[in-house]
Amino acid sequence: MKRKTSRKIKGIGASGGIAIGPIYLAGREEFSVFKRRLSQEEIPHEILRFEEALISTRKSLVSLQEEVSKKLSYEHARIFDAHLLVLEDRALIEDVITKIKKEKVNAEYAFSEVIKKYAAALASLRDDYLKERAIDINDVAKRVLSRLVGKEEEQSLLSLKEKAIIVAHDLSPADTAVLPKQNVLGFVTDIGGRTSHTAIIASSLGIPAVVGLRNITEIIDEEDILIIDGSEGTVIVNPSPRVIEEYKLKRTQQARLKKIFSLLRREPAKTLDDKRVTIAANVEFPEEIPLVSEWGCEGIGLYRTEYMFLGRKDFPQEEEQFQAYFDVAREVKPDTVIIRTLDIGGDKFLSQPDMPKEIHPFLGWRAIRFCLARPDIFKTQLRAILRASVLKNVKIMFPMISGVEELKQAKAMLEETKSELRKKKIGFDENIQVGAMIEVPSAALTSDFLAREADFFSIGTNDLIQYSLAVDRSNEKVAYLYEPGHPAVISLIKSVIDSGHRHGIKVGMCGEMASEPLYAFILLGLELDEFSIPPAWAPKLKRLIRAVKFSDAITLAEKIMRVSTAKEVEKLTRNFLKEILGNKYKSYLSE
Ligand code: PEP
Ligand code: MG
Repeated sequence: MKRKTSRKIKGIGASGGIAIGPIYLAGREEFSVFKRRLSQEEIPHEILRFEEALISTRKSLVSLQEEVSKKLSYEHARIFDAHLLVLEDRALIEDVITKIKKEKVNAEYAFSEVIKKYAAALASLRDDYLKERAIDINDVAKRVLSRLVGKEEEQSLLSLKEKAIIVAHDLSPADTAVLPKQNVLGFVTDIGGRTSHTAIIASSLGIPAVVGLRNITEIIDEEDILIIDGSEGTVIVNPSPRVIEEYKLKRTQQARLKKIFSLLRREPAKTLDDKRVTIAANVEFPEEIPLVSEWGCEGIGLYRTEYMFLGRKDFPQEEEQFQAYFDVAREVKPDTVIIRTLDIGGDKFLSQPDMPKEIHPFLGWRAIRFCLARPDIFKTQLRAILRASVLKNVKIMFPMISGVEELKQAKAMLEETKSELRKKKIGFDENIQVGAMIEVPSAALTSDFLAREADFFSIGTNDLIQYSLAVDRSNEKVAYLYEPGHPAVISLIKSVIDSGHRHGIKVGMCGEMASEPLYAFILLGLELDEFSIPPAWAPKLKRLIRAVKFSDAITLAEKIMRVSTAKEVEKLTRNFLKEILGNKYKSYLSE
């Protein structure tokens, strides 16, 4: 067989490591449907074909629903209820049959025309819940059409049985929630930046990922083989045997380095001149909790709670949440877990029926704004967190705080919840610490006031960078402007750390910036106390911290405060590290 042409495509490296393997193409765009005129005799057969397609789609949806119910939860499985209802909609089915009969057209054409009409009618409604149903209709339509045109139905990500590299336009948080993660070799997506949701998930799972490839889903074929290099941000489609060998060698070298890293797991994160910092873990899904100690992290600096709220039509109840928070606190004990309250909005959409779509979701009704407006949801979560705090190793933090009033309101709601629990004689940690995430420039600029109200700060640079530089963190077209080393960002971070320290509180960072060794060295010099990062990155960071002096990091930080561009900041830091670490400095920076 003729070997396919090989090509290299540059994207954005979102999570380091090398993956080589077959692909799994998820969610490619619709296929075209042709119109065919039927003879009178063909009509009964065509109607039969249509009905059979409905029956077999129904069967496969029911089995998918059962699988989801078994593997995830009954609640997740209910996503498919709406799909099944579409298949049973008599009016819709009758419309298709009438069209086949009257216009003498093939089933796929008649069906797609009727579906288009239904979906357009729903999409034009003002009611957001009904609008969402247009998505269900289109999804079901794709499944029925693929049966009619004789294609294998597009599989759900859940049924990924073999190890493969997932190629998708984008992966929604709901997609990733149902992903059988043990079979994912890597992620490759058309859209997204380094701190988009897909990128964060890949990096917390320690899976290589390249995002922002623009049109990779159109370029490749299902039989293609890929190499992805998450550190370089490159994808090679159908590599030659020589290139495969080259990358296998590189992968072996990386594995060797990983072994060196693993020896550091139990060592403290301490510089040569005895400055001790904390390396904690960011956790997105409960599956990652064992990685926290495996990679030698000291507790969890960011426990994202959104996974429980995504991909379902209702909100998780107190008991379900309590169990999750209690379990994580028990597992990391005696270390601490910082549980972040619900941070939906932005690129994390909820599918609950009353959630509005917004023109600027990152600037909209997200995170603490949503929670303060929905005390029913917020207080349920607070109760669950407080109850888990009986273990005495739980801290709580609020996302997207934009100023003192918001923090005070959130704290007032927490106090209200505490007194309700006291009345009911339900135990919790009376001294639970409450932190503010600093991820909005206004919060950074008023951090001196916020520090009086908070027990600790956690800087969320993923958002802080996007808001201070006006760069959408998930838009690959402006990714070149997303610069953690930008002097504006460095100066905001510095002032947050100084404000915190002036008021005697610890300052951590849970944005991805803290996991990049080059920036981590700068952050050390800015006197950051805690680095909360995807667990798999911890040994690399620890290796660097243990190889440098705090006093050197301070000297570097003072120097970079005097330069005017991100490029200069990076160059200066690189050269400085080269000077203190010698020629092997690169091994501290790359994988
Ligand atoms: C951040 O913004 O840096 C952060 C950690 O929060 P998230 O990435 O979940 O928005
Ligand atoms: Mg954030």
